[in-house]
Amino acid sequence: MNTTTMPRGDTMIVARGLVKTYGTGTAAVQALAGADLDVATGRFAAIMGPSGSGKSTMMHAMAGLDTVDAGVIRLAGADLTTMTERQRTLLRRTTVGFVFQSFSLVPALTARENIELPLRLAGMRPDGEWVDAITHTLGIRDRLTHRPSELSGGQQQRVAMARALAARPEVVFADEPTGALDSRSGHALLAFLRDAAHEYGQTIVMVTHDPVAAGYADRVDFLADGRVVDGFDDPTATDVLDRMARFDDRRQEVAA
Ligand code: ADP
Repeated sequence: MNTTTMPRGDTMIVARGLVKTYGTGTAAVQALAGADLDVATGRFAAIMGPSGSGKSTMMHAMAGLDTVDAGVIRLAGADLTTMTERQRTLLRRTTVGFVFQSFSLVPALTARENIELPLRLAGMRPDGEWVDAITHTLGIRDRLTHRPSELSGGQQQRVAMARALAARPEVVFADEPTGALDSRSGHALLAFLRDAAHEYGQTIVMVTHDPVAAGYADRVDFLADGRVVDGFDDPTATDVLDRMARFDDRRQEVAA
């Protein structure tokens, strides 16, 4: 595809025809099989799909953490798929925040030091007011001098979220961000993500299996067998559940 014809500006991420195969020969697994996705700037996007449908592979590729075998990914106007690993690393430092399922906090550092670590690694000075604002909204301001071992799972998850947002990256990728949270903390975190998109223009891409979480997003797209097979704007949890049930029905028909 000629990349100059791809949409830009209002579209933070454009992914076209993504193909990725792990392994070779009889052990080969096609994780992505021609996946297309657009994520609008300043929107909160959810990606859903059965386990093994390619969600993590797609998110890692869109975040520049991993490569694809074929296809084009444009992130904030830059073509990731023609970049060297070093160029992708530099782009990631300035443009991308990532919230992993496992938090990946550094045990020896306090919460504040963890939050500010990516900024310091990038040679940037933390914006104190911004860090205060996000840690206040996330309800962890009184925990900032504590180390991860002194925090609950939910608090660690919120520290990881603050870390992803501290440098005000253009895009935040979140992999099952509410997986470790009780439902009240989960709702607070999702509301925070929605506000970050709507009030600060932050673009957010979240992988989730939870219809309630997807109900906070501006749009949900569904992956199946390495392709985006469906999607709609302004989902409610009920819409998402209905859609998932129809997938399950079709899978059972195919299997029968
Ligand atoms: P999801 O996030 O939707 O569960 P993944 O992107 O993790 O899906 O995986 C898609 C497919 O690729 C699965 O069949 C998975 O087993 C396979 N896969 C993912 N990562 C690897 C890897 N590093 N090596 C081999 N196969 C992998």
